[in-house]
Amino acid sequence: MLGAMQDWPLRIMRLLDHAEREHGSREIVSRYAAGDVVRTDWAGIARDARKLANALERLGIRRGDRVATLAMNHGRHLVAWYGAIGMGGVLHTINPRLFDDQLVYIANHAEDRILFHDAAFASIVERLKPQWTTIEHFICFDNGEFEELIAAESDDYAWVEGDEREPAMLCYTSGTTGHPKGVLYEHRSTVLHALVEVMPDVFDLSNRAVALPIVPMFHAAAWGLPFAAPIVGAKVVFSADYTPEVMCDLMREEGVTHTAGVPTVWLALINHVEATGADLGRLRLVTIGGSAAPRSMIQWFMKRGIDVGHAWGMTEMSPIGTVGGRPAGWDDMSEGEQLDLLCRQGRAPFGVELRIVDDEDRALPRDGQTPGRLQARGPWIVGRYFKAEEAVTEADNWFDTGDVAILHPDGVMQITDRSKDVIKSGGEWISSIELENAAVGCPGVAEAAAVGVHHPKWDERPLLLVVRKEGSDVTPDAILAHLSAHVAKWWLPDEILFVESLPHTATGKLLKTAIREQYRNYKLA
Ligand code: ADP
Repeated sequence: MLGAMQDWPLRIMRLLDHAEREHGSREIVSRYAAGDVVRTDWAGIARDARKLANALERLGIRRGDRVATLAMNHGRHLVAWYGAIGMGGVLHTINPRLFDDQLVYIANHAEDRILFHDAAFASIVERLKPQWTTIEHFICFDNGEFEELIAAESDDYAWVEGDEREPAMLCYTSGTTGHPKGVLYEHRSTVLHALVEVMPDVFDLSNRAVALPIVPMFHAAAWGLPFAAPIVGAKVVFSADYTPEVMCDLMREEGVTHTAGVPTVWLALINHVEATGADLGRLRLVTIGGSAAPRSMIQWFMKRGIDVGHAWGMTEMSPIGTVGGRPAGWDDMSEGEQLDLLCRQGRAPFGVELRIVDDEDRALPRDGQTPGRLQARGPWIVGRYFKAEEAVTEADNWFDTGDVAILHPDGVMQITDRSKDVIKSGGEWISSIELENAAVGCPGVAEAAAVGVHHPKWDERPLLLVVRKEGSDVTPDAILAHLSAHVAKWWLPDEILFVESLPHTATGKLLKTAIREQYRNYKLA
């Protein structure tokens, strides 16, 4: 027997309808690449999204068609999101930092029919147009074309209704190995993810919040913030420009309280603040994720009275898997204990189940010591990649995340490495991430990468590549001395090499595959 409550499918457009109805005048502020600041509100976004839905229908876009964007963060991009999803389309956010062959591959694989893009990416569009075989329309966001497209349209439109499990959005992984894989988010998965995201121990969003997502909208849907904000009617500030000056100005001028992004952007922001004494205004919570947040970075924010949330996730998980914040007992912890805790990736919110397994898929204990392959399941975790025949999950729906982690008895998860990056020395695992984080805490070190290099006796031994801070002449001995205080002796790198720079992926992470490839046959002294 079924219950007797109303049928109310969890469709994404209900998020926007709610924001328009209950928080219509709450602002959406966009700073465009040219420096102009445009202000609208949730009601304005909803109105323009209805106009765009009409325009898309006029252009012949139909339910289920893929609507692509190649753009940074701004209000017009948000209108394109909701307009495309509202008319039954599947929004495909393309990461402009991918390599050309990946950009060609994903647009063709997705069979995108229309592409909205920033003027800043016009050269990509011109270059790849001949190879994109399915895109019929190209609309630029910043040269008036977008406004022109919707200007004459009616703002009357009834969102396409349907099953809550219909697809709404397509995000490709950045694909460090092989072709990028498409993850097809559903209406239901997105709404559930958004509902959980506003919770205090996740992104802590509320009507008072002013959120500046620094994570790009093409990176796992800006971690879902554009879907979570309308639930509480938060004010959202978008910036197409990521320079630290612009970020700091916006934070101050718009009263930003919440922001989220990868460690690389915080590194730049911290350097800027250190150099100029810039003020961060009312900033209250910084969510750091995408790569492990270094201890020194967490401490920097905490010293300024700014809370840190340490988030772990991935495109395949919509992307939130865990967030480390301030649990019960926080106020009684010493600063060191608080920092130790925040260096871990935190707990799974409701909706995410985690376990760790050994190489034979046997579940391992949550003992705070044993590392294992981290697996996850839940309603916003991938079941099958776009167009794949087979499920990607193992028995009982477990999805193997490709990460190696420790689960602590209190439920806190600690990433120790990616399965591919872990350094296997004499049958034991050395965490490349821990080495890197410890190295970055050494004065004079700007960035570090640890990779396993073949060793005749131990199979692999760590090699540490270091980019020095400008003007620093830090020595290998000084770095080793610093590391000794943080990691086991047998973890210490056999050699430290100084390099000018390190390669990064399209989402700003160290490109470990390329670094490993380059140093695979390096002969340790
Ligand atoms: P891709 O999988 O294409 O590299 P994602 O942005 O989805 O792009 O990356 C997900 C991966 O990033 C995770 O599997 C994990 O290895 C890493 N990651 C994300 N957040 C953290 C974190 N807080 N600490 C350590 N690693 C993280």
